[in-house]
Amino acid sequence: EALINRIAAGEVVERPAAALKELVENSIDAGARRISIKLVDGGLTRLEVTDDGCGMSPDQMSLALERHATSKLPDEAIEQVSTLGFRGEALPSIASVSRFSLESRPHGEPQGWKKVVDHGVLEEDTPAALPPGTRVRVENLFGKVPARRKFLRTPRSEYGACQDVVRRLAMARPDIAITFEHGDRRVLSLQGGETLEARVAEIIARELANNAVSIDLERGPMRLTGVAGLPTYNRGVADHQYLFVNGRPVKDRLLTGAVRGAYADMLARDRHAVLALFLELPPEDVDVNVHPAKTEVRFRDSQAVRGFIVSGLRQALSTGDR
Ligand code: ADP
Ligand code: MG
Repeated sequence: EALINRIAAGEVVERPAAALKELVENSIDAGARRISIKLVDGGLTRLEVTDDGCGMSPDQMSLALERHATSKLPDEAIEQVSTLGFRGEALPSIASVSRFSLESRPHGEPQGWKKVVDHGVLEEDTPAALPPGTRVRVENLFGKVPARRKFLRTPRSEYGACQDVVRRLAMARPDIAITFEHGDRRVLSLQGGETLEARVAEIIARELANNAVSIDLERGPMRLTGVAGLPTYNRGVADHQYLFVNGRPVKDRLLTGAVRGAYADMLARDRHAVLALFLELPPEDVDVNVHPAKTEVRFRDSQAVRGFIVSGLRQALSTGDR
């Protein structure tokens, strides 16, 4: 069983940023209002996520550490999945390739519980003092899995990938307070309850300054909001494009293609726009369950989506650039 977990873990979690994404999504699913994220060495040495969400009882914690145990599997319309995760693989997978500590306390309980799993083996199972919520700590990820470890990059580049994950999730949920620390450096400290614009601004503001237009467009049941850097302001990397579908961060070819189409001839060669765009459409018009480890989406009418973004964004950019 432990070996099977370890093999499967590489598919669900291929680097610290992937583990971090799973943990923060779990916190969001748990209804957290505050999430604190701490990394050491880009997450290679340690990765810690603490939330004030619903918490788990000791029994629920045991269940969560079993493969394919999920509290979220929707038995009716799989199309209408409103939570971010619904597979029940992340925690056991990560716990099979790291030293994994899970601490949790449901609201209203006088104390919490702690379980430590070292590379798939339960080592500690004790009461613990913590505020209501959950804390997950992952140490030495892939440290004992040389085949996987050798694909990891430097702490600096693993950190970059983690930062990208945090930024994307933080933009998707401006209502949640998020702090992000790397080593002894506080990278982000975001208040909850912000408007989307304010949150996006806080994250990429310094970058965009006054060189952006705000977007708020509608066509039929589709809505596109966010901020887009003016064509005169752009960068050589694509990393600063943040795209969301129904609140879920995505990296999708159709969408990036549509963005490129909107900027088309307005951008200098080899330059990329800096932007954050939020597309909303009815859940039945989009499938976000393409592959567990990827964030691709499939639209029912991709031409309509593409047309909406290309023409709407293009027009907003040309009026904003005067
Ligand atoms: P999934 O999120 O796909 O259900 P996971 O392995 O990520 O699978 O988590 C397993 C289960 O553990 C979840 O369904 C949830 O019930 C519980 N869980 C995980 N993280 C948290 C958390 N931060 N707060 C409360 N419950 C959690
Ligand atoms: Mg999950």
